[in-house]
Amino acid sequence: MTAPAPPSSEAAAVPGRTPVLSVRGLSVRFLMPGGRRVAAVTDAHFDVAAGECLALIGESGCGKSVLASALLGLLPANARTAGRALLGDLDLLAADERTLSRTVRGRLVGLVPQSPAAHLTPVRTVRSQTQETVSALTGVRGRAAVRAAARAAADRAAFPADHLDRYPHELSGGLAQRAATALALVGDAPLLLADEPTTGLDRALVDRTVDELRRHVDAPDAAGGTGRGLLMITHDLAAAERVADRVAVMYAGRLVELADAASFFGTPGPRHPYSRGLLQALPDRAFAPVPGMPPELGDLPEGCAFAPRCPRASAACAALPATVGGLACHHPLPGDDGEAPSPTASSTEDIRA
Ligand code: SF4
Repeated sequence: MTAPAPPSSEAAAVPGRTPVLSVRGLSVRFLMPGGRRVAAVTDAHFDVAAGECLALIGESGCGKSVLASALLGLLPANARTAGRALLGDLDLLAADERTLSRTVRGRLVGLVPQSPAAHLTPVRTVRSQTQETVSALTGVRGRAAVRAAARAAADRAAFPADHLDRYPHELSGGLAQRAATALALVGDAPLLLADEPTTGLDRALVDRTVDELRRHVDAPDAAGGTGRGLLMITHDLAAAERVADRVAVMYAGRLVELADAASFFGTPGPRHPYSRGLLQALPDRAFAPVPGMPPELGDLPEGCAFAPRCPRASAACAALPATVGGLACHHPLPGDDGEAPSPTASSTEDIRA
């Protein structure tokens, strides 16, 4: 009989720093025809602190974007959520649509979308859309002041002023990305949520885009505070390495590792076998893809979902591993102390002790 992993909050927080966003036990289920349930996200725990970039990584379809949609209240009607996602005192999972549309999207959470060209209104110029966003999200009033604020917003996202009167279809992918970023920054939201912000960009534009996001995280906010928090959802590990302070790895709807970016991308490296496999798949590392395919979220095994692809799997992995020290694995790879638990010596009881 497989015991469920207990909720775990340790390692989710940034020590000594006030979280902008605090997610505890977030789960999303999709209710499908015939009574089938799809476990898109299960029991996610993490914080994003002011001035911090947390990169949420994992293969396509692992639940990353569903998690983002849950935070913004943009899930379809057949979705059911559990847990909390506190943005200050506001629980995003419990907020009604009126609150989400009037005070969350754009004002408390700035969204840098996956497809900026699709996010922009095609029949209006960037200037028009930016001015409208300024009027809607800020206290700036008066035609000249709004126009100046729109120009300043474009400037913050490195969007060239002489392109402001262009329509979205007249922009390159990189410029559309900057226009969308400019809109996301207008409300000076304490949390930036970037959902695959570098999709379709070449490497130079990827670097430029994530650098811009990082700059806005580091810059003081409008009140002179410690800046914004950035939750960057991406499958681009090079982009994550470039700007993230911490890395959260998702597999089959669960966070399996939460680690400092420096140790994750450097030494000792990822400790979860799936995270290690993701990194080893990079062309500048072993260039060896993780073998096999992720499981269907509607048909997950009772134990560790990575077991069929894992070189360290043992009989213990038939039981779901608890999250300890930010790791959900019965047999993690060596840590800072260089100790590697034997793949066969560890047990569920050992890990949870
Ligand atoms: S060692 Fe076991 S628990 Fe850890 S990732 Fe592999 S199969 Fe999962």
